[in-house]
Amino acid sequence: MTADLSVPLGYRALDLDSLRSYVAEQPRLAECLGGAAADWQVEEVGDGNLNLVFKLHGPKAGFAVKQALPYVRLVGESWPLPLSRAHYEHEALTLEASLAPGRVPAVAHYDESLALIAMELLEPHIIMRHGTIAGTRYPNFVEDITDFTARCYFLTSDMALPAPRKKGLIGTFAGNTALCKITEDLIFTEPYMTADNNRWTSPYLDGMVAALQQDQAVKRAISRLKLAFMSHTQALLHGDLHAGSIMLTTEDTRVIDPEFAFVGPIGFDMGSLLANLLISYFSQAGHEESPGARDGYRDWLLECVSGCWTRFEEKFLALWRSNAASGDGYSKALFQDDSGKAALDAERVRYMHQLFADTVGFTGAELIRRTVGLAHNIDFEWIEEPALRAHCEARAIALARDLLADTALYATIDHLVAAVRRMESCNPLGNDA
Ligand code: ADP
Ligand code: MG
Repeated sequence: MTADLSVPLGYRALDLDSLRSYVAEQPRLAECLGGAAADWQVEEVGDGNLNLVFKLHGPKAGFAVKQALPYVRLVGESWPLPLSRAHYEHEALTLEASLAPGRVPAVAHYDESLALIAMELLEPHIIMRHGTIAGTRYPNFVEDITDFTARCYFLTSDMALPAPRKKGLIGTFAGNTALCKITEDLIFTEPYMTADNNRWTSPYLDGMVAALQQDQAVKRAISRLKLAFMSHTQALLHGDLHAGSIMLTTEDTRVIDPEFAFVGPIGFDMGSLLANLLISYFSQAGHEESPGARDGYRDWLLECVSGCWTRFEEKFLALWRSNAASGDGYSKALFQDDSGKAALDAERVRYMHQLFADTVGFTGAELIRRTVGLAHNIDFEWIEEPALRAHCEARAIALARDLLADTALYATIDHLVAAVRRMESCNPLGNDA
């Protein structure tokens, strides 16, 4: 099945004026905004990659309005992408709102033919990446994000859902093939071969990238991960859970932009989350005011890495031990007496070990795609001096290589954190940058 690239009758991309008129015709939205349409402030947000995003302010309230284009916004019509991504984003936002209340922007309005979602305007929230580049700490981040991850993944797993509902959920998202294909190509394939989309800080990283692309252990590992991504229908994933998909304040954390949602391996989302915290960690040397000035901040980032896993694990297990575990996976009927209960608990521990091993591999995959593949992050990109940027990126690549090829050595989150700290004092480029 190829993705449906047709544009439905009635679709048109909106601009500032046509958006204002459109919203004026939606009584509920217009009522919430208050005042007359002419009083509303409308602006386009410039930092989206794939879609149009507008912010609307009225005298009483505001909305964010996101509209899919039949192509990738940043590239243009030469890269077509189906409008159906708005459908999947809407499905995911609605479901996530019920699974993890308060952790996503509330949907106010959805128009399938315009591929348009109006949602709660998150203010004064900012994109997490901007906050971590500035060195801001977010005391509630770990608790909030692990509420989201543990609840969304457990409650859509086979331990929570009866088999027919689980299969229905897989079906709901099965058509999001075009967005999954982007991930399959850009994360799991192209960085490990010669491909036009790849780029890295050259010439500094040329040697490391050449070695990576010839590393058979890495190629086997990334292919195993790709297969898991394509075939392991564990839970509903966000599909793009990085620091650009999180908006927050020091009090509140929200997850936005689930257009890549599909039912896949939990470790994929968890790895993306941890890798992006590690990217922030490795990039700090490029943003600190003076050498060592951000040492305390680096410690906080590693506490987040640790907390994102341990609190997730605790919350996931608590749900599994609760009445929420009414799915067909691991039927309670098999584990009724005391020895059965102990056996089931041993299985839960085993499951979490496997989930962590998956997470370690996917963390490596995300680190590589952000340094060698097409889509880089401002954490590294905003380091202007190429030699310094390469120095930071090299640590991420060296760690990623080990996470991919020697996954079994990272049995616990403490092993991972210790490896990150060791990497901080290494110089994988072997020069005196
Ligand atoms: P894309 O999928 O095209 O990258 P995003 O969903 O990531 O689009 O949104 C692009 C930008 O729009 C975000 O980086 C953020 O600045 C802003 N934005 C998105 N949703 C909201 C929201 N609900 N409230 C406030 N700003 C938002
Ligand atoms: Mg997006």
